[in-house]
Amino acid sequence: MDRAELKTKDYPLYIHGEWIHTEERIPVAHKYTGQVIATIGKASRHHVEEAVTWALHTFRTQKLTPSERSDILLRASQIASSRREELELSLVQEVGKTRKDARGELDRVIHTLRLSSEEAKRICGEMVPLGAAPGSENRLGFAIRVPKGVIAAITPFNYPLLLSTHKVAPALAAGNTIVLKPATATPIASYLLVEILEQAGLPKGFVNIVTGSGSQVGNWLLEDPRIAMYTFTGSAEVGTEIKQRSGLRPVALELGNNSPNIVHEDADLEQAAKLIAQRSFHNAGQACIAVQRIFVAEAVREAFTEKYLSEVRSLRVGDPEDEATDVGPMISEAEAMRAEAWVQEAVQQGAELLHGGHREGSIMHPTVLAKTTPEMKVNCLEVFAPIVTIIPYQSIDEAFAAANASAYGLQAGIFTNDLNLAMRAARELEYGGVIINDVSTYRNDVMPYGGIKNSGLGKEGPHYAIEEMTDLRMVVMNLK
Ligand code: NAD
Repeated sequence: MDRAELKTKDYPLYIHGEWIHTEERIPVAHKYTGQVIATIGKASRHHVEEAVTWALHTFRTQKLTPSERSDILLRASQIASSRREELELSLVQEVGKTRKDARGELDRVIHTLRLSSEEAKRICGEMVPLGAAPGSENRLGFAIRVPKGVIAAITPFNYPLLLSTHKVAPALAAGNTIVLKPATATPIASYLLVEILEQAGLPKGFVNIVTGSGSQVGNWLLEDPRIAMYTFTGSAEVGTEIKQRSGLRPVALELGNNSPNIVHEDADLEQAAKLIAQRSFHNAGQACIAVQRIFVAEAVREAFTEKYLSEVRSLRVGDPEDEATDVGPMISEAEAMRAEAWVQEAVQQGAELLHGGHREGSIMHPTVLAKTTPEMKVNCLEVFAPIVTIIPYQSIDEAFAAANASAYGLQAGIFTNDLNLAMRAARELEYGGVIINDVSTYRNDVMPYGGIKNSGLGKEGPHYAIEEMTDLRMVVMNLK
């Protein structure tokens, strides 16, 4: 196929509206061809301190009204929409996601900016009825929502534009300033977001980007006591470290999952097979809510598996720039090798390979395993690769218990036509979200999104993120 012409771009750091060049550069590769498509700045400790200094200075000296914030975010949404083709190609190249997946991410970025713009206009406090306590009859009480200050946003590689937007846009809507550290493998998206915000009229100092490794730049951010809050999306390991090191400062942590999806015997099997197959392997399985463990009632196991495998066999694997591709490469060959090794280990331990199992460079082919045990890595850890397991169950109690036997708790899916069972699932599945007659992967940016257990703390979705990113300040007036 004709590949779009590649021009290497250079992205300096972005601090207080200035593009700061650094001597040391980090290369960013096209995840399918391996070609270098960009270089980014490598921040020093001094740069990180400068970014926080300017973010704090801006927070203390420059206020934008809610309507100004709302207008900027609305314009940003419109600009993102007008730059769709360029943004789509950038995501395809730097993440290796297919064109369909890139367009899906972009739709959500545009929507999230718009939602944040709307939310900026309705950040409310509440009246507090102080007169309810004897002796306070002449007191007027109300709580107002105030921004926290400088927010450090640390983001992962897999949805680089959307997940940066989910942090930056609500933080701005609420009146905070931000220091953003994107993943080193996919930093370009964050630079594009900042360019868009600048184009939309965001004054300097509100958003700053420092790039470099987690062990350096991330670590320096964690050492800076001037940061009021950390909002992080990434692995449970790093999330745990952030929680431990942030002391009494609040954190919002969006971490991993090994998502269960239950197909009950009364489910519409066509619908279940189609939706599960479509969403098992998108973004090459590198989504925190990707389908991982498929629990199927024994009575329909054979029928479901047949339908599911026929959908999976039709998926086209390969070059993400090719419009027809359904599954592209993983983020690196090392990650694909890790995924392949987990499959081989499961097979050695007795699992049956129903589809895939092999790797070509950084492409891991969609893989379906049966006859697995709960202790296998492909079940008990977050697989973060295009690998699913099909696990039969005899009773729904057994399915709920197995689904809940996880260190994680982000989202779960269940397919059933029984309303009572659906409501039981909503109550009994120990997850931040329960999706009925669709997959665990369903996320609409308006909803509260976030997990329990090792899946994290706090909720995203602009309305909910704004609650996390603001403090309730009580005001009491002693009236005559
Ligand atoms: P990661 O945890 O390796 O890295 C995430 C970010 O943290 C990167 O920017 C990285 O540089 C930084 N970092 C690494 N070490 C650090 C440290 N010691 N201090 C501070 N920052 C540090 O995650 P990843 O490999 O980029 O992404 C995959 C993970 O993200 C998966 O576990 C996935 O489930 C999770 N994820 C969760 C959600 C969600 O919304 N719940 C969404 C997407 C991805």
